[in-house]
Amino acid sequence: KARKRFGQNFLHDHGVIRRIVACIAPKKGQRIVEIGPGKGALTEGIISVTERMDVVELDRDLIPILKVNLFRYPELTVHEADAMKFDFSSLVQDEQTIRVVGNLPYNISTPLIFHLLSQANSITDMHFMLQKEVVDRLASRPGDNLYGRLSVMAQYYCAVDSLFVVGPESFDPAPKVDSAIVRMTPYKTLPFSTADVKKLEDVVRIGFQQRRKTLRNNYKGVLDQDDFAHLGIDPSLRPERLDVKEFVAITNYLLEKES
Ligand code: SAM
Repeated sequence: KARKRFGQNFLHDHGVIRRIVACIAPKKGQRIVEIGPGKGALTEGIISVTERMDVVELDRDLIPILKVNLFRYPELTVHEADAMKFDFSSLVQDEQTIRVVGNLPYNISTPLIFHLLSQANSITDMHFMLQKEVVDRLASRPGDNLYGRLSVMAQYYCAVDSLFVVGPESFDPAPKVDSAIVRMTPYKTLPFSTADVKKLEDVVRIGFQQRRKTLRNNYKGVLDQDDFAHLGIDPSLRPERLDVKEFVAITNYLLEKES
């Protein structure tokens, strides 16, 4: 029986499973790590190609079921662990970065993505099934309705592509909302970077404090008229108009001023 507290909705639509695996396009020998394999719906489509795989599953009652379902694959490594605390970089061997996939537990998807972004330099790419709204937030561009903190932080580290939508009927039990598949590919060299990501997170959080207010308002006490002029940013804009480059520029400007 599915457990609500573990965010369990098992995929049973084989057409959808095939489409996800086709997007991932696994290759033999690649190191793919799956978060929340459950009973192995996605796992088999991948390990049958790569021949080895690591999976991270928190619900210990599912692990024997998973092992029985995948008994043909001796190189399946099961980590009984909380993905939120899991050190993904520990799986990098011989400088071969890992690929991460999963039909994520929706109740923890945003903090889990932040946890993964903090290890982005160990990751080649990520393919996730998420609540459609979260995928829309991740992929939103400046000016879009859902553009906000999650969009900026994800796009600081990664190129983000929304791939396709999956309806509730593809799962058992059916979730209440639509889902979608997202691909996030960490940049090998960040296009715009700061030495202090915590500071960037603060700057973005303050900027979006009140979405409907202007930058002048949200950054009161942080940036004055001269600062905006120096940065070449119009203080009468709303925060949703700023792109990653501009949030990074504000961050680095403040770091320089404080030093
Ligand atoms: N991949 C399976 C499928 O598509 O049928 C299951 C997907 S289900 C939405 C989410 C899975 O993540 C469940 O197996 C659940 O037990 C597991 N899970 C929940 N919280 C977790 C956590 N913190 N760390 C690792 N796995 C977790």
